[in-house]
Amino acid sequence: MSAEFKNHIGGQWVDGASINDNINPSNTKDVVGHYARASRAQAEEAIAAAKAAFPAWSRTTPQERYEILKKASDEILARKDELGRLLAREEGKTLPEGIGEAGRAGQIFAFFAGECLRLTGEAVPSVRPGVGVEITRDPLGVIGMITPWNFPIAIPAWKIAPALAYGNTVVFKPADLVPGSAWALVDILVRAGLPAGVLNLVMGRGSEVGQALLEHKDVTAITFTGSVSTGRKVAAACVNAMPMKKVQLEMGGKNPLIVLDDADLKTAVEAAVNGAFFSTGQRCTASSRFIVTAGIHDAFVDAVTERLKGLVIDDALKAGTHIGPVVDQSQLDQDLKYLQIGRDEGATLHWGGEVLKRENPGFYLQPALFTHVGQTMRVAREEIFGPVATVQRVANYEEALALSNDTEFGLSAGICTSSLKYATHFKRNAEAGMVMVNLPTAGVDYHVPFGGRKGSSYGPREQGAYAKEFFTTVKTSYSFAG
Ligand code: NAD
Repeated sequence: MSAEFKNHIGGQWVDGASINDNINPSNTKDVVGHYARASRAQAEEAIAAAKAAFPAWSRTTPQERYEILKKASDEILARKDELGRLLAREEGKTLPEGIGEAGRAGQIFAFFAGECLRLTGEAVPSVRPGVGVEITRDPLGVIGMITPWNFPIAIPAWKIAPALAYGNTVVFKPADLVPGSAWALVDILVRAGLPAGVLNLVMGRGSEVGQALLEHKDVTAITFTGSVSTGRKVAAACVNAMPMKKVQLEMGGKNPLIVLDDADLKTAVEAAVNGAFFSTGQRCTASSRFIVTAGIHDAFVDAVTERLKGLVIDDALKAGTHIGPVVDQSQLDQDLKYLQIGRDEGATLHWGGEVLKRENPGFYLQPALFTHVGQTMRVAREEIFGPVATVQRVANYEEALALSNDTEFGLSAGICTSSLKYATHFKRNAEAGMVMVNLPTAGVDYHVPFGGRKGSSYGPREQGAYAKEFFTTVKTSYSFAG
């Protein structure tokens, strides 16, 4: 049987070794489409195609690259409602969230179209007479991209756009659960005018197609977003390869949101509910730990609970749905496992955590809030990646800061307060790549750096002009002019 949606290798749409049925998590009877799964040999063909395309693509003018990326941006933005619907259907984000993400992908391509024209170098006087020094940036070569399921179009966009803008060629392996958005994005880019081999799509399993990218000598660099456990394997493979590969990892989070007594309660509740539960809690930047001072603790828990009671958990495509389903059965099992672990550890399941039935069969889970949570409990330390948050009661800001930093992760950290002193202190002392004041920990701009510290990230930042740190390599040239 031929797949409806094929891989793209060396400028051709080609069938795979098998077929992946893309299932809608809001309605498991609904098959979004049949997508080709590439074999390892096809991944290797894609790498060869990207290698062959690199010399010519790396010598294109900034204007040529600008025009292609801008054209792709225009089409993504013009079709963002349709792309957002596809995304919501295959991943389970609500329709407005899906459309928002598709729009963001379009903006990212517009930004990096501009970056094609903004790349500069430096001319530096030498310490030696008659010598000039130039510092320039070269593209890396073939970039392997491995992406997760939770942002099916935005994450591929923020990797593919800078890679192409700075003159690299790409082999892109999306997550197996969400091939639809990846396919649509590649289709748009190819029709925008990319020469054959510059962007290759190999849909398939991490253990097969992903692994092929990690092991191949002609892949110069790997940009990966996903879990810590896979990230560790990716990094190890990259340093053990010969030649070694440049590697960038964006991984998990256990993001704290501190709420101080002097916070505006309404602002804090909105930041908490949005940050922890929207997108079904399946964001690496989701707030999963609320750390709340004693004076506002009970009012905060009551207000968050009231807000949760009013949320509609239903089909992602239905108007009025606030929270869509969990992405699949295995993620639902993980969420339920942690709900049990929390109870067994002695935390109080204050609200939610029920599996819900809706009109169609899907993976519906009521948002869950644990109270009476201790810092050593697994629910306060490990990434759950679902609509589950914990509340910890603390005496003061100092204790809150200590708990918020006491984690292996360091992606995003937030504080709700009306105190300039505490907000400023927190911005300086939070051990996180991104800090939010009176805002949800999730939800970031597309033109500034994104990334974390400690166990959340490894290597240079993604997004904004900082993306060039990963997608280019610096060359220092000396010349003697007599
Ligand atoms: P995952 O690690 O299971 O998979 C990520 C990707 O790696 C997928 O494409 C998968 O097929 C591939 N893969 C799996 N095994 C592989 C192997 N052996 N070799 C090569 N590739 C392999 O992660 P997921 O479940 O898709 O995504 C959820 C995770 O992603 C969460 O931990 C979340 O926090 C994280 N995430 C992080 C960020 C960030 O920017 N920090 C953003 C989104 C998601």
